[in-house]
Amino acid sequence: MKKIVVALGGNAIQAKDNSAAAQQEAVSKTTKVIAQMIENGDQVAITHGNGPQVGNLLLQQYQDSSKSNPAMPLDTISAMTQGSIGYWMQKALDDQLHHDHFPSQAVTLITQTIVDANDPAFENPTKPIGPFYNFNEMQKQKIYHPDYVYKQDAGRGYRQVVASPEPQEIVNAPIIKHLLEQDFVPIAAGGGGIPVIVRDNHLQGVSGVIDKDYSATKLAEDIEADQLVILTTVDNAYLNYNQNNQKAIGKVKVDELREYLDQGHFAAGSMKPKIEAAIEFVEKTGNSAIITSLKNADELDTGVGTIVYN
Ligand code: ADP
Ligand code: MG
Repeated sequence: MKKIVVALGGNAIQAKDNSAAAQQEAVSKTTKVIAQMIENGDQVAITHGNGPQVGNLLLQQYQDSSKSNPAMPLDTISAMTQGSIGYWMQKALDDQLHHDHFPSQAVTLITQTIVDANDPAFENPTKPIGPFYNFNEMQKQKIYHPDYVYKQDAGRGYRQVVASPEPQEIVNAPIIKHLLEQDFVPIAAGGGGIPVIVRDNHLQGVSGVIDKDYSATKLAEDIEADQLVILTTVDNAYLNYNQNNQKAIGKVKVDELREYLDQGHFAAGSMKPKIEAAIEFVEKTGNSAIITSLKNADELDTGVGTIVYN
């Protein structure tokens, strides 16, 4: 029996159409594979991204934001999407897992992730979120949210930008570990977890979006997972991606992969964080990490994907 953290990318949840029904259908396809892993005897903790859902919810929140009915801040919105996506996953797993007791053992945990209040990312927020505004609209938003930072986004208008700080600690990791070891299926640290800082012994939510690939590594380390599985759109990480001499990376030693990383083979904001996450997990634990596509997930034992080992 293996303890596995499965990290799901946006394509595991988002459908062509953004209706709840369509997203639930996409989620249901995804969890089928995970249910199979569980039926095979593995203990699986699920974590997932929430980029499109956070963006859409923000849009709705801002649509008619006013003093009497203000848009919720980003930490709260992040919690809301952890809840809605977790609900979809629980429901799907309820249908797919064989169990003696209904409902099944899938459980969503609203998860907070500690970040450093002095993380340089806060000085330089780079991640655009939510809608575009013209100058006047942006000024109006500032009345309600004087603390928000807005930047020009490639000449297309103004957008709120937030920090993408490094995750330091998954606050709820001991509970997640406990749930997993009791054969529950925790759905946790969605969207990277809600970023919080520690202030006077209290946790305080901050505006930011943590990269889910980095938080997945933290989670896998914290709960002493045997394997980190990152499921995305591509079957492998590639050398010379999208060029004539593109080459899939199969089984690879962590030192060799680091050389490829240093040579710049992996794009920032997409494949690079996955590679860095895999390298960190393998170096810290000595265990293996796999990066592959969702559709390969039901044959992980056959050597598919990019397998990183020590
Ligand atoms: P997710 O939602 O799963 O995090 P991302 O879009 O962030 O997905 O990352 C996966 C994408 O990374 C792939 O679809 C691919 O376009 C891109 N990518 C960039 N560099 C590489 C590379 N060297 N090998 C494979 N994919 C790459
Ligand atoms: Mg991504």
